[in-house]
Amino acid sequence: MLRIACYPKKNMMLAVLMLLTATQWTLAQKGDPKLTEVYSPVPPVVTPGKSCGDAPSDAIVLFDGSNLDKWRSVKDTMQAAGWTVKDGILTVNKSAGNIETKQSFMDYQLHIEWRIPENITGSGQARGNSGIFLASTGAGDGGYELQVLDSYNNPTYVNGQAGSIYKQSIPLANANRKPGEWQVYDIAWSAPRFNDDGSVKTPAKVTVFLNGVLLQNNYELKGQTLYIGQPFYKKHGASPIKLQAHGDPSEPISYRNIWVRPS
Ligand code: MG
Repeated sequence: MLRIACYPKKNMMLAVLMLLTATQWTLAQKGDPKLTEVYSPVPPVVTPGKSCGDAPSDAIVLFDGSNLDKWRSVKDTMQAAGWTVKDGILTVNKSAGNIETKQSFMDYQLHIEWRIPENITGSGQARGNSGIFLASTGAGDGGYELQVLDSYNNPTYVNGQAGSIYKQSIPLANANRKPGEWQVYDIAWSAPRFNDDGSVKTPAKVTVFLNGVLLQNNYELKGQTLYIGQPFYKKHGASPIKLQAHGDPSEPISYRNIWVRPS
């Protein structure tokens, strides 16, 4: 440590020079922090929702409780989504089949809330089964399914319980609430990319929180969801998000507050 006060006045300039040299020497030894400071691109300003779970300013609201204008039937994509909207809640109509967004997406953040009815009956996969296809790749159940099911106290195969990537990835925890209570999925989805010849360039990845608890941590998917057999990829581009009308006879489940932020 240099002590300038110790130098005679006439040598002050020399002392300052020595101090500067010493400072430069110290920077050279430690590195210049400015070399790693980046000032662009500046992230866009996003105003968060008033409460946790409310749509932020740049979100596309897919369902706000009023109508299904952003959705359509999967069976016939020219037809409206035939599920029930009442009291701000969307309830599955099993006879109408799956519904999907009119808009297609690649990578995104998705917020969606769901509720198993309090009077749910059945067991295993036949108890409040639905699902969120993070990319719908065709009619029926084509795509990549994040399972929705009553898994509060309902054993089934663990790669098929709520929060699983169906038949691929077991959730890291069971954070389910009781039937009758609203539950929240927050999802980050990275769509797969394909080469011109149809081979996989980069696989799909997903991170899922249920009720604030991490269930899937950047899980790399092996392919599209299959009920029977091993998953594999088939080339596709931007895709709708699809909700499942599962054929089991249990009481239909409900959704609310659905919004997405493409990235
Ligand atoms: Mg399902």
